[in-house]
Amino acid sequence: MLTQKIHQATRAVIDLSAIVHNLGLVRKLVGRKVEICAAVKADAYGHGIEQVSRILRAAGTGWLGVDSTWEGKRLREAGIEGPILVLGPTPPRESPLIVAQGLSQVITSLEVAEALSQEARQQGREVGIHLKVDSGMGRLGIKPEEALAFCENLRKLPGLHFEGLMTHFALAHSKEKSFTIRQLEAFRETSRVLEARGFHFSLHHAANSAAIIDLPEAHLDMVRPGIMIYGHFPSSEVSSHLPLRPALTLRTEIGHLKSLQPGESVSYGRLFVASRQTQVAILPVGYADGYDRRLSNRAQVLVQGRRAPVIGIICMDMTAVDVTDIPGVKAGDEVILLGCQGKEEISAEQIATWLDTISYEVLTRIGSRVERVYLSGEE
Ligand SMILES: *Cc1c(COP(=O)(O)O)cnc(C)c1O
Repeated sequence: MLTQKIHQATRAVIDLSAIVHNLGLVRKLVGRKVEICAAVKADAYGHGIEQVSRILRAAGTGWLGVDSTWEGKRLREAGIEGPILVLGPTPPRESPLIVAQGLSQVITSLEVAEALSQEARQQGREVGIHLKVDSGMGRLGIKPEEALAFCENLRKLPGLHFEGLMTHFALAHSKEKSFTIRQLEAFRETSRVLEARGFHFSLHHAANSAAIIDLPEAHLDMVRPGIMIYGHFPSSEVSSHLPLRPALTLRTEIGHLKSLQPGESVSYGRLFVASRQTQVAILPVGYADGYDRRLSNRAQVLVQGRRAPVIGIICMDMTAVDVTDIPGVKAGDEVILLGCQGKEEISAEQIATWLDTISYEVLTRIGSRVERVYLSGEE
């Protein structure tokens, strides 16, 4: 029997103490009285939903935000108790799962509310609901002018517990906050109208990471941090004085080394042709691991604390880098695709810039076959 754990060459190393540190920064910004609902959807932004949720709960996070019934189910099956909010639009047929697992559901349609009510009665339980107001995101939610009539209908449905009233910002990550302030005002007005008619919600919530950092008046009763928990800023326009610590490092190692003569080429399509004697390192990582093919001939990686360019087309399972200018490189040397090595860093934001996307997409696309390894901070 094997007693020693053998790790995959390509793995995401997740520092859970960084997640706890970032959660502490959120707590400092919002104060003691505001609840925190940490977004752990999309496998905790690629960091692993079970492990991250467990550490967040242990560090005092009251709520966890998931996208779907299925993510909620994964948490319950991992033995994670307490409030979980399903943020996405759940189809009525999934109501039995929502109720049985004690998940709370964001409500944006009467049909879903009716299905949940019926199921709650059948199972002899209550289901927590958070009514979503569309104050300008234009995605999910009830329009402010329709909220009162909607609530009158909800009131007729037994088994629903009015836990939350919420909205979501479309532009909080931009420097210009006037649209976000208008959204917040529309939400506040809706909330006043509903209160006046006797609809009480214990948790009013609106703020994502950007609003947590830049718009304290949006903190309300609960905040919903996502990207900042993982150590990244929502955009380059959000104030960046907060000492967030990125939790994830994507590393691999050199699988094979070879020498190219001038005129010889690398990989499919011969996109890279050597103009000098070139030392090439082949890495066991490719687009199937989420190392995007559009990084071909564009990205850099870190080897021995120095930058080395990706050359040629990135394959499904392999990537080539030029290590000619880094002396003494050998097979098995650690290679950082995302993260720090020595004094150098390849940030998620840097990769996002190469890909013309955002750090969120870079992190959530790290493939499921990439092993996740957790550091608890003591190691
Ligand atoms: C994902 C999500 C968040 C978190 O957003 P970040 O920008 O990652 O902080 C907050 N609220 C809702 C409704 C979400 O879906």
